[in-house]
Amino acid sequence: MANEPILVTRSSMPPFDEYVEEIRSLWETHWLTNMGDKHHRLERDLKSYLGVDNIALFTNGHNALECVIEAMGLTGNVVTTPYTFASTTHAIVRKGLEPRFVDIKESDYTLDPDLIEEAIDENTCAIVPVHVYGNLCDNEAIQAIADKHGLKVIYDAAHAFGVEKNGVSAATFGDASMFSFHATKVFNTIEGGAVCFSDPALLDLLNQWKNFGITSPEDVEYVGGNAKMNEFCAAMGICNLRHLDEEIAKRKIVAERYWENLDGEKGIKVCLPTQGVKANYAYLPVVFEDDFGATRDDVLAALKRETIFARKYFYPLVSDFACYREEYDSSATPIAAHAAARVLTLPMYADLPIDDVDYICKTVLDARTSKLELT
Ligand SMILES: *Cc1c(COP(=O)(O)O)cnc(C)c1O
Repeated sequence: MANEPILVTRSSMPPFDEYVEEIRSLWETHWLTNMGDKHHRLERDLKSYLGVDNIALFTNGHNALECVIEAMGLTGNVVTTPYTFASTTHAIVRKGLEPRFVDIKESDYTLDPDLIEEAIDENTCAIVPVHVYGNLCDNEAIQAIADKHGLKVIYDAAHAFGVEKNGVSAATFGDASMFSFHATKVFNTIEGGAVCFSDPALLDLLNQWKNFGITSPEDVEYVGGNAKMNEFCAAMGICNLRHLDEEIAKRKIVAERYWENLDGEKGIKVCLPTQGVKANYAYLPVVFEDDFGATRDDVLAALKRETIFARKYFYPLVSDFACYREEYDSSATPIAAHAAARVLTLPMYADLPIDDVDYICKTVLDARTSKLELT
């Protein structure tokens, strides 16, 4: 039995005194939100960290995604994946667009470019792929399709903060990339998010859409919402960003220990790093195939008995949610359905002790024999 419960994640926090020092000036300025000093500073720091020219900050990743859809003025249908968090599809639907679900690749759970074109018709306006678990989509193939059909590409990059391919930041892919800075993400601002984008003309639009559509002191041109990041969240981001490389280096050690213990075991599929990719080790997904000797749910239960908490992420498929299942059939995306039925993400965070990783892996592998004993 583990001494203390091991949760699936643990939010990164800066040293307390560092945060206090960062927010001290707010007691002098009394400027708490609406693009204050901390907000500007974090924008600048993120542009440099992510290697982008354009960024807008938001209350959270979801609002960022809704805002970029609004600012681009999209209408019609959108090709996307059902193997994602509710937010991706909800943003599309809440902005009046129709999602068209396309299956994923077995190798990395990202949108399969070979299946995109058959889902496109004359009303398609965009492709919204997801860098699932920080695994980067095949951005070159996706861009080629988008260019051919005149479509926008908006990446849900919520999992891919800091990830690079051949030295190029994933934040530069497509027309725009949405990041989430939620407490559970690799980089957090408590709650928060951002959009990085290629067309500088989007900057004013995004900043207006996130502030009620206000375009000048005496005019409001759009029916916008409120999605502005406040100064306390921005200050948290400034501090967390200083420690991020160190955090990712620690996550790497954790991930490599997991792979050492689990890769090659019969019926177990892990996501190993791709050649040329600088990873962020955001999640530790494991798929339990039918020949593993225990089901995903058996493993989840075995872990729970040891007060270790894994997560069925992503399960159910978005197309199986009560709000979508009348309209969609998840058997149309069999690879996504297969993964959703068999995947667990195991505990993953920078400070997870290596002994705990070994214990988690032992519990996972022992689920095969304990299953035999129980039956
Ligand atoms: C976290 C997440 C979001 C939403 O981000 P929030 O900041 O929580 O609004 C969207 N998509 C994916 C894939 C996510 O993991």
